[in-house]
Amino acid sequence: MVGASLAGLNAARALRGGGFDGTLTIVGAEEHRPYDRPPLSKQVLAGTWDPERTTLAGTGDGELDVEWRLGSPADGLDVAGRTVSLADGSSVTYDGLVIATGAAPRTLPGVEGVAGVHVLRSLDDCLALKADLDAAPARVVVVGAGFIGAEVAATCRARGLAVTVVEPLPVPLGRVLGTEVGGTMAAVHRDHGVDLRLGVGVLGVVGAERVEGVRLTDATTLACEVVVVGIGVVPSTGWLEESGLSLADGVRADASCRVAPGIVAAGDVARWHHQGYGESLRVEHWDHAIAQGAHAAATLLAGDGAEPFTPVPWFWSDQYDRKIMVAGRTQGAEEVRVVEGSLEERRFVALYRRGGEVAAVLGMNRPAPLARWRLRLAEGVTWADAVAGCPPPAPGGAPGRGAPA
Ligand code: FAD
Ligand code: NAP
Repeated sequence: MVGASLAGLNAARALRGGGFDGTLTIVGAEEHRPYDRPPLSKQVLAGTWDPERTTLAGTGDGELDVEWRLGSPADGLDVAGRTVSLADGSSVTYDGLVIATGAAPRTLPGVEGVAGVHVLRSLDDCLALKADLDAAPARVVVVGAGFIGAEVAATCRARGLAVTVVEPLPVPLGRVLGTEVGGTMAAVHRDHGVDLRLGVGVLGVVGAERVEGVRLTDATTLACEVVVVGIGVVPSTGWLEESGLSLADGVRADASCRVAPGIVAAGDVARWHHQGYGESLRVEHWDHAIAQGAHAAATLLAGDGAEPFTPVPWFWSDQYDRKIMVAGRTQGAEEVRVVEGSLEERRFVALYRRGGEVAAVLGMNRPAPLARWRLRLAEGVTWADAVAGCPPPAPGGAPGRGAPA
């Protein structure tokens, strides 16, 4: 296993659960055994959980009988020789390999070495950011209103800090949730006191040793003491550059998550062929990393009899007192329709249409109805059947309005 985190650990669990009793080695770039990342933008950053609570089950001494090789990243793969090389000069040979190196945050140019500018991916990132927040900065600027940006903004507001969020798109989370639901999230953030600067980009930061501000494309400069950059991630495939494996926005895998004979991939790093959707996909969420880690392990054990991996992706996001849950694929949707509750009350279920199909369902603070819709989605309910008997679209709701960009 290369990558000591969610997908890798769940592959290890599945291998042991599937009867594998040989040597299991997990190589990890971080010093830590696998831990959970979702609390890093929520409870740990808020200070309501100790970092130890993020430890994942199965990582204790003796559990899963794993040989841990932590604190030194893999830096090369010899496919023919079945050997992974590590940055510390050592190497590990294998019969089967799980690639689970996840993804790394993008950052802004010119911020290297500037204190007070943060990304948030690892526990160490979280603790460094939390230390700066504990010092009660006068203002935090969050660059990017994706998941990191939206959740960090919510956590900072809960801590009573002044927050400005800068996002080039017209609404937060617009790429994933679409314009209407994104617009609702904009209202939620503004109601909680966030200064949202939408449709504007970032030119760079001001300050040489310590950040003093952020320069925007609309010629304003936001004075601040802390900056959090949440502008997406890049799959961690640098160590595979010379391996000959197919890399294109992730490591390419077939329908069963197999990359090459004896090699599988899982989690944020894996771009595999989703046979049900008929296209290649890479998913950057928690539930997916668990399911794909287990599936990739089963593929290794099954040899030629491997099954295709055809999940309906699922994820959640917590912001303030709102819990958003999404099943399916919202990207590329042509229409969004609220079928239960309403955007105004910020408690609703929305369906996303692609052609004649329901492509995704989203619930905001509606867990029980969402669970029902999730089942219907998995059963392949058509759009016509799904919206029959549901409230008509809001006036002015032309097809395509509200769909994700
Ligand atoms: P990662 O968790 O990225 O793990 C990959 C591991 O591989 C890392 O430990 C990395 O250091 C290591 N690695 C990288 N390169 C190498 C190398 N060359 N050699 C050895 N090791 C290497 N999802 C949700 O659905 N809901 C949420 O609320 C949610 N909240 C999140 C909050 C935060 C702050 C973050 C960062 C993510 C959140 N996610 C959430 C997403 C979810 O945590 C990820 O999708 C999941 O962690 C992916 O797991 P992974 O094992 O594929 O990759
Ligand atoms: P993200 O969700 O991909 O969002 C990045 C946001 O930043 C997008 O809105 C993007 O706009 C914007 N952006 C891109 N370049 C920018 C720039 N130069 N200046 C300002 N904004 C810019 O990524 P993320 O929020 O950084 O999250 C990182 C990873 O953690 C993702 O894999 C995410 O899924 C995961 N995560 C998930 C959850 C969850 O599931 N609840 C929570 C936290 C983190 P464009 O779309 O126009 O590029």
